[in-house]
Amino acid sequence: MSLYVVGIGPGGLDGMTVEAKNVLESCHIIAGYTVYTELLKPYFPHKKYYSTPMKQEKERCGWALARAAEGEAIAVVCSGDPGIYGMAGLLCQLQAQAQQETVRAAEIIVIPGVTAASSGAARLGAPLTHDFAVISLSDLLTPLAVIQKRLRCAAMGDMVICLYNPASRKRADYLRMACDIVLEYKSPQTVCGYVRQIGREGEEVRVLSLEQLRDIQADMFTTVYIGNDSTMELGGKMVTPRGYADV
Ligand code: SAH
Repeated sequence: MSLYVVGIGPGGLDGMTVEAKNVLESCHIIAGYTVYTELLKPYFPHKKYYSTPMKQEKERCGWALARAAEGEAIAVVCSGDPGIYGMAGLLCQLQAQAQQETVRAAEIIVIPGVTAASSGAARLGAPLTHDFAVISLSDLLTPLAVIQKRLRCAAMGDMVICLYNPASRKRADYLRMACDIVLEYKSPQTVCGYVRQIGREGEEVRVLSLEQLRDIQADMFTTVYIGNDSTMELGGKMVTPRGYADV
């Protein structure tokens, strides 16, 4: 008995690994957040879908674990990579709990996917060629003070910063707050970029300065990049050099 946790990449079938596609084809039930199951339906029309809105992750994962324990071929899907702000961790925790309570707990098999940091970076050029930090601005599960401290440390260390969950309706001004923290350590001219709806309809890519980034209205489908001191704009691309060109 296995439960697959599958990363589907940024959106379309093109961005999915062959392994993820094969696993989804072999499963009977696909469970996930509604946005992702809707993305998959055209590619896997004959599957049974089980979707729940956001904030019902525990319920959805518990249900999937129970189905897998009964012998169903089932996959829980996440966008990008399931181990990066995805369901892999929660499922491992629920599985460990189930194992203590029953003898029939399914094994968790994690299938990696292309995370937004890399698919978005590819659209921008090469912003992550040197050390970088990935930080989520969502304070739903992480205290805001922890997020602010991590932003500060990353900026202080001159890491390229990749921001997930940069804003939502309730957190409309969080990207501005993050930029203001970074601006304590970095020039307003620092090269930045963002990609919206990577690999999906309406994709938007933009390279801009840190002071311009402060004023954009990001949403939940945007990934943001803040360059380090050597990041540059080259022919419209965002590029962080790593010194290969100098040797
Ligand atoms: N597991 C996912 C991340 C989930 S957190 C992954 O590995 O990519 C959700 C955040 O990821 C979004 O708020 C956004 O910042 C980023 N993201 C995921 N898919 C995206 C896409 N197609 N386009 C732009 N950003 C995306």
